[in-house]
Amino acid sequence: MADVIPPQAPVRIGVGTSGENFFPVRRIYCVGRNFADHAREMGADAPASVADRGRPVLFCKPADALVTDGVVPYPRGTSELHHELELVVAIGRDAPEGILDTADAPSLVFGYGVGLDLTRRDLQAAAKAKGLPWDTGKAFDCSAPVSRLVPAAEVGDLGTKTLTLTVNGTVRQHGALSDLIWDVPEILHELSRLFALRAGDLVYMGTPAGVGPLQPGDRFVASLDGVVELSGHVTTGDSGL
Ligand code: MN
Repeated sequence: MADVIPPQAPVRIGVGTSGENFFPVRRIYCVGRNFADHAREMGADAPASVADRGRPVLFCKPADALVTDGVVPYPRGTSELHHELELVVAIGRDAPEGILDTADAPSLVFGYGVGLDLTRRDLQAAAKAKGLPWDTGKAFDCSAPVSRLVPAAEVGDLGTKTLTLTVNGTVRQHGALSDLIWDVPEILHELSRLFALRAGDLVYMGTPAGVGPLQPGDRFVASLDGVVELSGHVTTGDSGL
């Protein structure tokens, strides 16, 4: 028995500040329209109440789309690369068989980080207009910059935390995690209705309002305020820009 091609190693995200501990990634799940102000800016209706939420918008990115050093090449195939600032949840234990109860969901969480759900907005808009899948707009190479992870016990109560993104020193996005339409236990419950959640999975929790363009040369700082930061920049890549 032998592999006929070399296997790809999983992407590993640093944990804490020692430089010694890493979180190997299995899958990336993402939540769309999870802040009312962002749903509205994208032209969608925001739910009027919890009873009105329906089901969350869920999609995936490949695990090898992660960027752990903050260096983002401007992607080919787009002239509208957008930032979406998001809380990132890291799953540390396999979910039990069946549908996960929200009360059991916190015990699966290893820790948290902050990331960008980078989006080729022009391609996503074209797909949306035709009722086609979003993959070309969302699931491209280097579309998932992420900070190091901080263990959940060191983060404390998420509901009191905020997210902030600056680009070239100007605040572009700021949101309170208390404003999530679906919170972390609810999203893990919803994901378990459709997928087998396992150790190594990440969940990008959705973005607040203020999404906008990134250009080559832009420098960004995404932060889960008081907990962890992701600093990086956009390079020209091979896009021809
Ligand atoms: Mn997003």
